[in-house]
Amino acid sequence: MERIDVQLGARSYPISIGEGLLADASLFENVRSRRVAVISNETVMPLYGEKLVSTLKQAGAQDVACLSLPDGEAYKSLETFNTINTFLLENNYNRDVVLVALGGGVIGDIVGFASACYQRGVDFIQVPTTLLAQVDSSVGGKTAINHPLGKNMIGAFYQPKAVVIDTQVLSTLPDREFAAGMAEVIKYGIIADAPFFDWLDSEMAALTALSPDALSYAIRRCCQIKADVVAQDETEAGVRALLNLGHTFGHAIEAEMGYGNWLHGEAVATGTVLAAHTAQRHGLLDEQSVSRITALLEKAQLPVHVPAQMNYGAFIKHMMRDKKVLSGQLRLVLPTAIGQAQVVADVPHQLLADVIDAG
Ligand code: NAD
Ligand code: MG
Repeated sequence: MERIDVQLGARSYPISIGEGLLADASLFENVRSRRVAVISNETVMPLYGEKLVSTLKQAGAQDVACLSLPDGEAYKSLETFNTINTFLLENNYNRDVVLVALGGGVIGDIVGFASACYQRGVDFIQVPTTLLAQVDSSVGGKTAINHPLGKNMIGAFYQPKAVVIDTQVLSTLPDREFAAGMAEVIKYGIIADAPFFDWLDSEMAALTALSPDALSYAIRRCCQIKADVVAQDETEAGVRALLNLGHTFGHAIEAEMGYGNWLHGEAVATGTVLAAHTAQRHGLLDEQSVSRITALLEKAQLPVHVPAQMNYGAFIKHMMRDKKVLSGQLRLVLPTAIGQAQVVADVPHQLLADVIDAG
């Protein structure tokens, strides 16, 4: 088992990673003598709910109830948030309740937000079950729901008490979702850790074959990098922006192609390749690194080409709405070497147009 501590003073918490951890009661000691609600969705609850409930009881929970929400990003909504509140109130939970989020990033985000709000804040534990949630959304304390006018627009920074990552649950995850999570894994190598990038390049086959040791190592490295960045910049005032490599381009693809048609990680993969080409044409990155980045994403079964329907105009209208745009100036995260990235504000729009129309 691997363990990392996210260092945030009084709000610090452990992340445990390993095979079969869903059955390890020692990782859930926060629940002893307390009432617990496991919140999941109709896909994941039938797969792992029973095992988790039995572990929580073994850990000494006073009682454990389950709430299963509908599956999908469309349900990361105010209505579902309120379904959770109603469930919690009907069960007469007070501030001592512990919420356990069992699922992917959608469940983690909505349960995290409900935890931040219910009676002004209750404890919660993240049990992420997608690769994306295990390496990204369960770490860092960003919680949110969507508004019809914008994704993740209503939310809070709220840290869990623990994150428990069981690599075994990835065996039921659809291949496409696994690959999408791998885009974020590769992102960490590009922005922060060249040896990890090399390791991913040589171990990609072991990872896609779900080797428990390879998975635990990769997930630990990602969580460590994210935890370090978050410890430096919890509320995204500076260095945390680097975690958005590929995301400005990626969000444009997701929005233009219709959310759900391209998975987030797929759009980030193509966005990362566009960021690499942009960096290269801007004189910040060598050509060999662009090729290595592209090749590794392809090895992970990810798309690396701009959708045929999308030209520069289609990208830029979405990209100018990015949260990093300051006084009308686009700011892009660009790789400057494998293992290094920076925010760049002076990329000419013509250069971007050339990259996108070539991509
Ligand atoms: P998801 O939660 O929708 O999960 C993807 C699909 O996999 C769902 O159908 C889910 O039911 C299913 N699933 C989950 N675990 C499974 C398992 N073990 N076996 C079989 N099926 C399983 O999607 P996601 O990619 O995990 O998360 C995306 C969400 O995360 C978005 O809403 C995004 O905004 C959010 N996010 C948040 C942060 C953050 O910092 N808070 C970071 C990145 C993404
Ligand atoms: Mg992302």
